[in-house]
Amino acid sequence: MVEKAYRYRLYPTPEQESLLRRTLGCVRLVYNKALAARTEAWYKQKERVGYSQTSSMLTGWKKLDELDFLNEVSCVPLQQGLRHLQTAFTNFFGGQTKYPNFKKKRNGGSAEFTKSAFKFKEGKVYVAKCKEPLPIRWSRQLPKNCKPSTITVKLDPSGRWFVSLRVDDPTNHQLKPINKKVGIDLGITSLFTTSDGVKVSNPKHFDKLYKKLRLAQKSLNRKIKGSKNREKARVKVARISAKIADCRRDHTHKLTTQLIRENQTIVVEDLAVKNMVKNHKLARAISDANWGELIRQLTYKAEWYGRELIKIDRWFPSSKRCSNCGYITERMPLNIREWDCPKCDSHHDRDINASINILAAGLAVLVCGATVRAEQSKSVKPSAKKQKPK
Ligand SMILES: [Zn+2]
Repeated sequence: MVEKAYRYRLYPTPEQESLLRRTLGCVRLVYNKALAARTEAWYKQKERVGYSQTSSMLTGWKKLDELDFLNEVSCVPLQQGLRHLQTAFTNFFGGQTKYPNFKKKRNGGSAEFTKSAFKFKEGKVYVAKCKEPLPIRWSRQLPKNCKPSTITVKLDPSGRWFVSLRVDDPTNHQLKPINKKVGIDLGITSLFTTSDGVKVSNPKHFDKLYKKLRLAQKSLNRKIKGSKNREKARVKVARISAKIADCRRDHTHKLTTQLIRENQTIVVEDLAVKNMVKNHKLARAISDANWGELIRQLTYKAEWYGRELIKIDRWFPSSKRCSNCGYITERMPLNIREWDCPKCDSHHDRDINASINILAAGLAVLVCGATVRAEQSKSVKPSAKKQKPK
């Protein structure tokens, strides 16, 4: 069984749209109130407030006259919102993410319905408090004999509605094993380079979209705050951003599916993208490259299709090491695209060489269970010796 999410466009009737908008509004309000309560408890009393406490707070809020409207929408998405807040805090305390932010109306929003709050009958989706089925544009088929376990209704910042259905797919997707392995170097000038010598770049039409986005943002900045024209300009920016995000997702899907189909074992560097994005010079290039999404897709597709993904330590000196003889150079600035090994005279393309090293390191992990950390300390020692002449 693999869990999959299927996303479709949704065209709610005016009546449904009004209910859904109110639901999203209530989810946002409850989430923000709970976040405020948790923050205050922490800063004032150094107390940690958990999910169950926020859940009982919600029960209390629903009894207040001024928050009576919370009873008009399904309670499930409100509870789910509190669960998402709990996850956000768990990730924050685990050091993976920043402190949770308040939700803003202009970013759209979402409402998650678990089994008790929706019905799936004869291929139609009914959500709580809504008589008519949701008008969904079924752009692709759900796997046969599948019933969604959760559905999420989403409004994006440009005003488009989506519904995402989570299903457990019993179909076996495992591909026939093949004997091919590849290493991948995530790059900046190209999206990635494989140890087969293939360089993949971002599609050219992205540049055009970015130009459009920049123009739209400039126009937005000129509009007076709170004016109707500003709202129009905001939607325009949101639409172009959504278009860019869609294109990027499609492109990444194509690439990851191809990599998974053609290779049994794929080795990547486990980059802490989040840390690298802090460097502003690299930021645009890296977020364009969409590395995090690339690795995320490879991870779940490898599992679906019975392939192997190996992530190696990000401090492995993949660029500095000669893939032919193992010599490690001291410095390898980003502007050096090609180099010659001083020891064995091999001529290297920087990225192809790195991806070959990544593949080798991944295979070492696979064969002898060696950790890449061990290899790292080996590579550090010689230079450490040089620094301390006696
Ligand atoms: Zn060499």
